[in-house]
Amino acid sequence: RAKSRGRNTYSHYLPCLTEQARERFELERALRTALANGELSLNYQPLVSLEHGQGLGAEVLLSWHSPSHGQVPPARFIPLAEDSGLIVPIGSWVLNQACQQAQQWRSQGLELETLAVNLSPVQFLHQDIVALVGAALESSGLPAQHLELEITEGALMHHSAQAEQTLKALKALGVRVALDDFGTGYSSLAYLRRFPLDKLKIDKSFLAEVPANQGDCQLVHTIIELAHNLGLRVLAEGIERSEQWHWLQTQHCELGQGFLFARPMPAEAFANWWAAQPLSATPQPVS
Ligand code: C2E
Ligand code: MG
Ligand code: MG
Ligand code: MG
Repeated sequence: RAKSRGRNTYSHYLPCLTEQARERFELERALRTALANGELSLNYQPLVSLEHGQGLGAEVLLSWHSPSHGQVPPARFIPLAEDSGLIVPIGSWVLNQACQQAQQWRSQGLELETLAVNLSPVQFLHQDIVALVGAALESSGLPAQHLELEITEGALMHHSAQAEQTLKALKALGVRVALDDFGTGYSSLAYLRRFPLDKLKIDKSFLAEVPANQGDCQLVHTIIELAHNLGLRVLAEGIERSEQWHWLQTQHCELGQGFLFARPMPAEAFANWWAAQPLSATPQPVS
C-alpha cells in the first residue's frame, strides 16, 4: 500500500522495518513530545443514573491531536504509551489535571459525585500509584470519595499479591475502584471476592445487541445480578439507543454511560451539558 502521508523520512535509516512497524515508530516518536507540546487534552463523558438519565459524574478520556498524525484514538496510542513507558508521565498528568478540574467545578457548584480516571496496568503495577493519587488529591483539594479509579482485569491478573496490596492502600486513601471492561479479559470470579472493588463496568460489547439478542441479555442480566449479590454497583457502557436504556432499567442496572446520553466532551462543553440538565439544577420534588 502506497503511503500518502509522504513522511517516510526514517525509511532510509530503518530499511528493515515493515510499513506497520515504521508507522508505530513514527507515532511513538510524536507521542514523546505530545505532552510537552500541549497536544493532549481531556474529554469528560457523563456517567448517568439510569433511573432518570441525570448526570452523576464523569469519566475522563484522553484525547491526542497530533499536528503530524491528526486526531489519534486512545486505542492506538495508549498501547504505545504503555510499551514505551510514556504512560507514566502522561497518566500522572491526566490524574492531576482531572482532579484539579473536578475540584474547580465543585467550587463553582458543579458537584460531580464521581470523577472516574482510567489507570493503565503499567501505572497500577509499576508506578508508585498510591503516592501519586495521594498527591493529586492533596494538591487539588478534591475529597477522596469523589475519585474513582478504573482498572482492568489485566491489572489484577499478574502479580495479584502486589495488586491486592496496592488496592488496599488506595482504598485506605478513601478513593473508589471500578473494574472496567468487565467480561473482556481473563475474568476470574475469584478476583471479585479477593479484591476490594466498588463497581463493575459492563463492557459495551455485551450491550451492543441488547435487547434483541437473547444470549447477550442473559449474560448482562447475570452480570448485574452477580454485581448486586456481591454488593457492587454496576454501570453499563456504550448505551446508544433508548431500547437499551429501557431494558437496563427493567434489569435494575443503576448506572450507565453512552452516546445516547452524551459523548465525551471538552471541559467547557461538559459544564454546559451539566448546567442544561433540569434535574441537576433543581432536584424535582418526589410526588
Ligand atoms: P474505556 O475506559 O472503556 O472508555 C470508554 C470508551 O467507550 C471511550 O472510548 C468512549 O468514547 C467510548 N464510548 C462511550 N460511550 C460510547 C457509546 O455509546 N458507543 C461507543 N461505540 N463507544 C462509547 P475512547 O475515548 O476511544 O477510549 C478508549 C479506551 O482508551 C478507554 O476505554 C480506556 O481503556 C483507554 N483510555 C482513554 N483515556 C485513558 C487514560 O487517560 N488513561 C488510560 N490508561 N487509558 C485511557
Ligand atoms: Mg474506563
Ligand atoms: Mg470501559
Ligand atoms: Mg471499554
